[in-house]
Amino acid sequence: MSAETPKHTLYDMPVSNNGARCRIILYKKEISPEEVTIASPMTLGGLKTPEYLKLNPQGKMPLLTLNDGDNTEGIPESDTISRYLLSHYAGQGPSFEPNHTKSNLMARIHDMYLTTIQGCLYKATPPFGIYRTRTDAIAEFKKQLLVMEDLLVEGDLPYLFGNEVTLADATIFPTMLFANYMLPKMEGGILDSDENPLPPKLNTWFHNVMKHDDVFQKVFDEVQGGLDAWEGNNRWDPIFLAGQRDLEDPTIFDKIVAKEIPAEIVYEDDKVLAFKDINPAAPVHLLVIPKSRMGLSRLTKSSAEHVEILGHLMMVAGQLAKDENLGFSREDGGGGRIVVNDGKDGGQEVPHLHLHVLGGRQLSWPPG
Ligand code: 5GP
Repeated sequence: MSAETPKHTLYDMPVSNNGARCRIILYKKEISPEEVTIASPMTLGGLKTPEYLKLNPQGKMPLLTLNDGDNTEGIPESDTISRYLLSHYAGQGPSFEPNHTKSNLMARIHDMYLTTIQGCLYKATPPFGIYRTRTDAIAEFKKQLLVMEDLLVEGDLPYLFGNEVTLADATIFPTMLFANYMLPKMEGGILDSDENPLPPKLNTWFHNVMKHDDVFQKVFDEVQGGLDAWEGNNRWDPIFLAGQRDLEDPTIFDKIVAKEIPAEIVYEDDKVLAFKDINPAAPVHLLVIPKSRMGLSRLTKSSAEHVEILGHLMMVAGQLAKDENLGFSREDGGGGRIVVNDGKDGGQEVPHLHLHVLGGRQLSWPPG
């Protein structure tokens, strides 16, 4: 090993969520760049190159290498790297209490349940890991935050478990930054975005630890700086509200929903609107539409994110099609025809999903 070669290299990027926990340990222990230098994975050609994959078969950040001449050894996975650093540099700086049971439990919950969800929330399309929809994934993420919240004692500050910084502080801090920054954006239009993303004790700790500890502030700035740069690059636009993004022009139906133009409304709730078709093709002809189109300009644009609204539309159509007051017959079981025209071949004219609900006479089959 030459004099210039550092003993270890941490392959990581400032924005990296899991790598940030290793950086907190390095900074707090004041480990010199001669001991551990930080480099971009691009210096090995990138995450998917044979050189990198040989050292970390998962092709992920972070990766720590032990630089020993020709025999470079790789230590992947942030928890493994963190514990290696805590053990290897045990005599230097804070211990991070590697045997603190609650800290270890919190770090474990984080790695098992939170990061697995967080990673797939970055995807632009469903499903989100084992969750079909982003809404489901976020609900589970929040449930796990509450499990962590229960491990904390009110007033234990500045760190999660009192005066000593623990491995859990380093482990969860970058993810809490993510939760604070991203969840309100991702929840826009799905969940109540006014609520605070973090439960109270975690929230107090998160904001307090930065004021108290320069290293946490520094890592916050590193990760947040990376996120801000992504924002500038429009990296997030295709990601937020995946499956519910709606980039197409509004239609006449939006005006009907906004009550800007009149329609004979026969049913309304918070999600759907049903009104009489202006050009009826049967004695009774209703249209049932989602009030918010959520990307459903046509049925063939639907994805797992839309299951709830699609079910709701069908249920409302079914309820309306047995309403005698609207003109549906009850004779011989009555009923009608519920139709979705899709695209050009289906003869769709208005690009905002709608169910036609027709009835009041015997309808012929097949349709033209
Ligand atoms: P599509 O051909 O797209 O499946 O059906 C669109 C339906 O919307 C047509 O049956 C058409 O008559 C109806 N429609 C179009 N514009 C209006 C409108 O301004 N008001 C109402 N009530 N129905 C409309």
